Amino acid sequence: MAKSAPELQPWQTVPPASLTPEIEDSSQQQSLLISVRQSPGFPVATGQVAHAILSRANQAMLDYTAGGCATRYLVDGMWEAGPPLAREVGDPMLVSLKQLCQLNPADRRNPQSGSCQVKQGKTKFRLILKSQGTAQGERVLLRFDPEQVPFHTLSDLGMRDSMIEQFREALNSENSSVLIGSPRGMGLTSTWNVALNSADRLIRDFQSLEPETEKEPEIINVSPNFYGGTTGLVPPELLRKMILKEPDVFVFPSIPDDATFATALQQAAGNEKQVIARYPANSAIEACARVYAQFPNSAKDFASTIKAVLNQRLVRRLCETCKKGFQPSPALLQKLGIPPGRVTTLYQQFVMPPIEEQVDANGKPAPIPPCATCQARGYLGRIAIFELFLPGPQFRAALPKTRDIAQLTRIAQAEGFRSLQSEAILTVARGLTTLDEVKRVFSKPSA
Ligand SMILES: [Zn+2]
Repeated sequence: MAKSAPELQPWQTVPPASLTPEIEDSSQQQSLLISVRQSPGFPVATGQVAHAILSRANQAMLDYTAGGCATRYLVDGMWEAGPPLAREVGDPMLVSLKQLCQLNPADRRNPQSGSCQVKQGKTKFRLILKSQGTAQGERVLLRFDPEQVPFHTLSDLGMRDSMIEQFREALNSENSSVLIGSPRGMGLTSTWNVALNSADRLIRDFQSLEPETEKEPEIINVSPNFYGGTTGLVPPELLRKMILKEPDVFVFPSIPDDATFATALQQAAGNEKQVIARYPANSAIEACARVYAQFPNSAKDFASTIKAVLNQRLVRRLCETCKKGFQPSPALLQKLGIPPGRVTTLYQQFVMPPIEEQVDANGKPAPIPPCATCQARGYLGRIAIFELFLPGPQFRAALPKTRDIAQLTRIAQAEGFRSLQSEAILTVARGLTTLDEVKRVFSKPSA
């Protein structure tokens, strides 16, 4: 009897990634690469890494148990099941990956962490591998960090035009302070970078104050100043040195302490300067209340200078190829607070019907091909929902008197503030995401 051809594994169906150890000496690098290439796990490693990246995962989790190796991919902030691997291929793959990351393949118990370089097509990544023994076997996390952060504008991130205008005006004003925030792990770094990129850094001098041990990615025309580490400087000292340079804007990727922040805000209040600070919080109002309470010496100048507070949540963006429109009922529109007649169509993600319902007009089976654009996920990429709070006189006056977020929010709303929730409804009405997705993100316990 003729042997049937073995079925291809997913890692065999993609062009393999190229994996390179991070060793400066090129002959040492070559000799390690040559020895790893000869091992049976190498083609699995290059194929599996490629499969994860081409599935748009920025992280992959490998769980080794006696029975096999389960994989999961993190795509647009959601974990999904990846193709499982048998131990016969999963084990040699891990040996190769650990060798390339210069780790000990024999140690499957102690925590290990290493990295290597990845090239997939024309795109380069750094692969960070972390492994640790578990009760059942071993867990391995692979993270793929792109070498170049893709350039985005506020509009690419999902900010509407009128908000961009208001935010730019705040970012380009003297005698002011601006806070930029989000819950932790909600894309704060990218919003921070994009926001600073959209400020006018050609006419004004931006100086940032950063711990030497946690340098920020470089932003053109923002000059970094470091404290801690080998500098021997503490933040208040560094700030005094920075003031001598007479910058226009003091940039704080994190607020180091009350004294330093207070001095910078004094400069903003009295010397036509500006302070832009990053501060993780669940909402713009909460950020104001917490900064006011946490930094008592800065509080007065904070309340008088605060010009704008930006906050955000990330949601998955609907796939434009397969999204489905529907006519919302008057009851639904009312529930969402959308005036009748304003929005005629809302959108949902495409969900594949069960196979028995995939039939043509005559009832004959007609399987629907999965959407190639989003790989049948219904969503493609993520966008931010922004709230931009421009504090008014009532709010400034209320800050010293109450820490009650609900009360502060009511005062802000009376002065024209639109909360994240109502911005989220607008994003749904613009057809960019779904009600399901908004519900999912807002029901999450936030940081
Ligand atoms: Zn699609």
